[in-house]
Amino acid sequence: MECRKEINLKNCNCSYESCSRKGLCCQCIAYHKDSGELPACYFDNNAEKTYNRSIGYFMKLNSR
Ligand code: SF4
Repeated sequence: MECRKEINLKNCNCSYESCSRKGLCCQCIAYHKDSGELPACYFDNNAEKTYNRSIGYFMKLNSR
């Protein structure tokens, strides 16, 4: 299967431009999963810029 990196990058909102995993969603998800986190695309652009990728932060933002 061909890597979809270029297509993925068009939909990636991560502002951490120097990350070697940017556009490589399989690596990105695995990395954050191992840290108990979610990738940038789970957060809106303002929340993403905090670099807080924790599940707790995600739940706080999405609770009523
Ligand atoms: S969400 Fe995390 S792993 Fe994915 S590109 Fe951004 S900084 Fe890298």
